[in-house]
Amino acid sequence: MSIARVAPREYHWLVDLTPKLAAAYEAAKSEVIAAGRYLGRRQYHVALAGNVSARVSEDLLVCTRHGADKQTLVQDDLVLCDMSGRKLDGAGEATSELNMHREAYKLRPEVRMVIHSHPPAATAFAATSTPLDQLQLPEMIVLLGPVGLVQYATPGSDELAQNLSLLLKDHDAFLLENHGALTLGRTARQAALRMDLLEQNARVSLMTKQLGRPFALDHASLDTLLSFRSQMANWGSEPLSTRQTAD
Ligand SMILES: [Zn+2]
Repeated sequence: MSIARVAPREYHWLVDLTPKLAAAYEAAKSEVIAAGRYLGRRQYHVALAGNVSARVSEDLLVCTRHGADKQTLVQDDLVLCDMSGRKLDGAGEATSELNMHREAYKLRPEVRMVIHSHPPAATAFAATSTPLDQLQLPEMIVLLGPVGLVQYATPGSDELAQNLSLLLKDHDAFLLENHGALTLGRTARQAALRMDLLEQNARVSLMTKQLGRPFALDHASLDTLLSFRSQMANWGSEPLSTRQTAD
């Protein structure tokens, strides 16, 4: 089998990847950069906070380095790790919150991207430990799904990853109690747009509380939307980068 050498720069760890894995690594890096810019423009990553990762293979992921500015990500802001957290390539150190990402990839084999950020309205719900479970808007049910409320633990700790793992099976979007938000996707587009939907859910929930009681769907209407959700599991297959607008 022919081997492609990745990481030509001397400060990088040397790791040999097959051509197929090397191509997957390059594609994953592009998607993380695109997602960082997409979310950065929306002010979801204030003060360098938050982190983004993408799956390269069953055993490998690429994540943002600790302290990277997500809106202006470049290749040197990315770190290749295996699922045990061991760094294999990259100029910096992996995000301190890598545990959550690893847990999501381990328990959800179909997930290709994990995003953790702090959008303000969703973070307000997280900061008050208020569940985001009031709205029955069609887009929220079909594209976002139920939002898990993850019990607080210190950011980056094994305990927080453990708390997240309890909800990973049934959710693609999460509030991290007194911390921020996390979304998953089978594609980068899914994970990024779910962060948008989560923030929209929080904003509309706040406005709805001012106006009255949220509309409650009857069982038949709800079932119809839930069936759309299962039929549309692969929405957002187009790479995020092809729909990027200029900064
Ligand atoms: Zn965080």
